[in-house]
This record gives sequence, C-alpha cells and structure tokens, in this order.
Amino acid sequence: MVRLNYQAMKALFAAVESVTQETVHVEGQICFTEDSFDKTRDLAARTYVVTSNNAGYQANKNGSGVYGSSLDQSDLNIRLDLLMSDSGKTSGWEIESCYMREEDYAIAFEAYAQESLNSTRLEIMDSQDEKRICPRCGGKFTGHGAVSRHAENAVICPDCGTEEALLDLIGKPKKASHWWVLRTSNLMDAVIARKSR
Ligand SMILES: [Zn+2]
Repeated sequence: MVRLNYQAMKALFAAVESVTQETVHVEGQICFTEDSFDKTRDLAARTYVVTSNNAGYQANKNGSGVYGSSLDQSDLNIRLDLLMSDSGKTSGWEIESCYMREEDYAIAFEAYAQESLNSTRLEIMDSQDEKRICPRCGGKFTGHGAVSRHAENAVICPDCGTEEALLDLIGKPKKASHWWVLRTSNLMDAVIARKSR
C-alpha cells in the first residue's frame, strides 16, 4: 500500500477521471482518527473505501459527493464529503491518512504525469549555456526540436522525436511518468520559459 495525504489522493483521483474521461477508476482508503467518533471504533471500522468514480473527483460533474463504505462493512455507502473535516467543517471527521494499492497508485500517477505534461508548456532552457533541455530525456539540444506526440505542449529533442515515432509504431510508447522532467525535482533545476504562441 502507498500511504499519502488526502490532498494528494484527491489530485490523483481527479487526474485519472479527467485523463481517461471517466472510463477508468481507481480505489483508495481514507482512515479517520479515533477521536472522530463518539464510540471506540477499530481500524477497519474507521477506514473507508472510496473510488475515484465520485462526482467530488470528476470535474465534469456538478457536485461534491464522495461515497464510501467502511472496511469492515459495518457502514455502507455513506456520503463522506458531508462528514469529513476536509470540506471546511471544524467538527467533521478528521483524516488520519489515506492509502492506495500499488497498482492503483501507478495508474493514477501515470494519469497525473500525463495531465501535467499536457497542461504545462514545457520549453526548458539551461541557465548556464542557454541550450534547450529535452523534458523527455534530459539531454541538451540546439535548434527547434520536435513537438511531442504525447504531450502537446512539450518541445523535445530530435532524437526523442524519432524515438517517439518508432515506439508508437511498435505500440510501446514511453510512459509519461518516465519522462525526465517528471521523475525527480528536475523541474526545479531547470529554467522554464513559457512563451505565448
Ligand atoms: Zn530527448
């Protein structure tokens, strides 16, 4: 299991729903603190299973509904968003932490990476020698580069442009989450130029 905070899980859920146009859903667990309840509840009774298939995670839907059931099945299909303190209420159930299965986390992270690549204009310049940095492989290059087939706003190096075309041909595109720029804090080291078209 991957442990994460609710803000992160919410962002990942929203990315999956948006990138896949609500065709793929992932699952997670929200564990609430013991103090959230009047009576003592064991871990399975205060941990709720939720999926990304809720209006609260889907930008296209008008609503904030998030339904979940407790792990021990003692509490089924409860509207959690009205009970959680996350919604701004001070008296709500307090979130201790959230968990996702490794498989679901991998799917969600890939969607999140894809979304970042599509929404950010990536034209990265090296501050030292003013060469461009390829966001896909991290290599430096000069000249115009190529527009990525997988990230509409990213300018990549000519080698990566060729590699993308070849990998597409054999049906094995490089995952967005494997791009150099998303792998580490590489974005922090690079100077990003956002030019308007
Ligand atoms: Zn490259």
